[in-house]
Amino acid sequence: MQEKQDERAQEKEARERLSGKKRIIIKIGSSSVTHPETGDVNLHMMEKLVRLICDLQGSGKDVMLVSSGAIAAGRKAMNFSQKPQETAVKQALAAIGQAKLMMVYQKLFSEYNHTASQILLTKFTLLNEEALGNARNTFEELFKLKSVPIINENDTVSTNEISFGDNDRLASLCASITDADLVILLSDIEGLYTDDPNRNPDAQLISFVPYIDETLWNMAKSSSKTSFGTGGMRSKIEAARIATDAGADMLIMSGQEIDSIWDALSGMPVGTLFAAHKTSFDLLDYVRNDY
Ligand code: GLU
Repeated sequence: MQEKQDERAQEKEARERLSGKKRIIIKIGSSSVTHPETGDVNLHMMEKLVRLICDLQGSGKDVMLVSSGAIAAGRKAMNFSQKPQETAVKQALAAIGQAKLMMVYQKLFSEYNHTASQILLTKFTLLNEEALGNARNTFEELFKLKSVPIINENDTVSTNEISFGDNDRLASLCASITDADLVILLSDIEGLYTDDPNRNPDAQLISFVPYIDETLWNMAKSSSKTSFGTGGMRSKIEAARIATDAGADMLIMSGQEIDSIWDALSGMPVGTLFAAHKTSFDLLDYVRNDY
């Protein structure tokens, strides 16, 4: 009982802290950036997202966007009805789709008089101290220039062995590179549930995670890839571990309710909040050994 009350007080404090965040990473997945039925770019969603980012930037925050959707947009452009299996085909589609996505982002940002920039990263970037330093410097310059970095994995040169796999973790790694203090994962569900809400009506939304304990970790390990959003619950909890260890809070919330980001930033109970707890997180070490 006391424990529950303490946790509620801790959550209130953590949520109230969100209004003071200075550097925010927002991650959006392929299923939100494109229409799942047709694969077409979801202009309505992108427009809402871009407007929100411009407003956040206007309120004095540095904002980055990790956007998936390159392969999906490439498939649509080339009329692929099925998901291709071959790596080279996926990479070619990513090359086509990434350019297309950026074209849309550039156009939308310029409508609000903002400038988007593209950052494509691979695991190699993070394993090479010089490349990592360069990426860090580029981010800092872009913030000074008030340009919004739009980040994706450089799919065209990644291989299975060196791929980030999903952009949930890429978003958290970028938090570590840029010393961001908040990561927001826009998901296809409202947050983290005790079980798959599509299959179990008793599944409950977990509103606050003060730290990732063994129980949560085991839950994540046993969840299937498809049951909790595109990257799966496991990748989201892994992303939360990286972000919170690197000193950033992480919020998982529904991509359908983008404007609720304002509610979240004013301390309202939106999605699932994982609390930051700076440890001696070493990015290079993590990528080298754990990833
Ligand atoms: N990098 C991939 C793309 O843009 C997506 C990875 C993910 O779905 O997280 O298509």
